[in-house]
Amino acid sequence: MMYPGAITQLLNDKNHIYYQLYDNSPDMHVSVDSESGKILMCNKTLSKKVNIPKDDIIGSPILDMYHPDSREKAMSVFKMFTAGKKIENQRLDLITKGGKKIPVLLNVDAFRDEENNITFSNSCWRDISEIEQLKSEIKDNVQAKNKELEEFVYIASHDLQEPLRTISSFIELLKLEYNDQLDEEALTYLNFIETGAGNMKNIITGLLDFSRIGKDVELEEVDCNSIIHDIITDYHLAIKENDAEITSELLPHINAYSTAIRLLFQNLINNAIKFKKFNTPPEIHIECITKEEEYHFMISDNGIGIPKDKLNDIFKFFKRLNNKSQYKGHGIGLAHCKKILDIHDGKIWVTSEVNEGSTFHFTLPKTIKK
Ligand code: ADP
Repeated sequence: MMYPGAITQLLNDKNHIYYQLYDNSPDMHVSVDSESGKILMCNKTLSKKVNIPKDDIIGSPILDMYHPDSREKAMSVFKMFTAGKKIENQRLDLITKGGKKIPVLLNVDAFRDEENNITFSNSCWRDISEIEQLKSEIKDNVQAKNKELEEFVYIASHDLQEPLRTISSFIELLKLEYNDQLDEEALTYLNFIETGAGNMKNIITGLLDFSRIGKDVELEEVDCNSIIHDIITDYHLAIKENDAEITSELLPHINAYSTAIRLLFQNLINNAIKFKKFNTPPEIHIECITKEEEYHFMISDNGIGIPKDKLNDIFKFFKRLNNKSQYKGHGIGLAHCKKILDIHDGKIWVTSEVNEGSTFHFTLPKTIKK
């Protein structure tokens, strides 16, 4: 049962209650004077986290609360705020008295006078140290597991090569030495075994190549124009046979893993030629938009296109959408492309219309973390 005077007392004390909540909130709160940029008020949580007494925080410039690495971004967020933009979940770093970084998400609300001028702002900083720590542990874990898996793929595919070589050489010997003694049916069976062994060899080589991508390589300056030029030269037969036309805009020089980037363009151009529409010569166009922090490449074709519900599936290992007899392949090329983008911290995706064509997009950051 509630004491009769409790509600009256609660209502009378609501400022006090509000202040208690404010002071003990799990988030850090500050109110800042818009003109001077100095802190007018803050809660206990902030004082505890940065290990500075409240009295020393109050009156100091808000910018001093940020770690030097974050101050430039804090300034630009402040400019966005004064320009009237909504500030939500901006990732910044505060600094403690001892110089330690506290990663935070910043949200800001404005308080205005009758003329709609901002008088002060209320900022809320959410400490995301634990989330970031967890994220980095999960990332390390996934990377370690991926490494284990890759080693397994490497060993398995490497060791499978030997018995396969034996099978292939004995098929050859059988055909060579017993050709006269084998009837037509036996020869047909042998041909099937030979084709199967050949396919298996391609798959195993594909797996081996996959586990080798990004191993023991250095970042270097790569001229994408010269890569495209080389690929066109290498593929001149396929281009001629299919009456294909490949056009490219001026592409950037990037800092990347050269062999992997070449393989990436090669796979995408090869597919753009291969998945052409019946009786329609392939038209392939390559372009790149240079953005602030990344390059956005696009390789478009006028081929058979890809159904909307399969746009993500095609980057999985061994995933193929078409009839094997019509379009040759093993479903490895795009898995390679995905891994190449992973090692560059980039992204790959496709937009497409069935019977109209596809555009493969990939982004590469201008600066790649090693
Ligand atoms: P493969 O080419 O050996 O079949 P990929 O991994 O390169 O393997 O491609 C996977 C599948 O994605 C292909 O089998 C095809 O169904 C689809 N695909 C890839 N590129 C294109 C394209 N440019 N146009 C239409 N479909 C494509």
